[in-house]
Amino acid sequence: MPIRLNENAEVVAMIKQGLKEKNGYCPCRREQIEDNKCICKEFREQMADPDFEGYCHCMLYYKSKE
Ligand code: SF4
Repeated sequence: MPIRLNENAEVVAMIKQGLKEKNGYCPCRREQIEDNKCICKEFREQMADPDFEGYCHCMLYYKSKE
């Protein structure tokens, strides 16, 4: 289950800045709740899903199947 950062360094810098401004909460979501703290619940579940391949909601991370 390899996880990597987006290959676009500008996207990574932008999302990381957003995370900083939101104190670690997902910059792509409005609600500042525990589930939306990076790494958010949605992506944790996607990481655990053997059939999932793709970016997290914000496109900071990419998960490959193998
Ligand atoms: S894993 Fe991605 S979608 Fe989830 S909080 Fe972090 S940046 Fe946002």
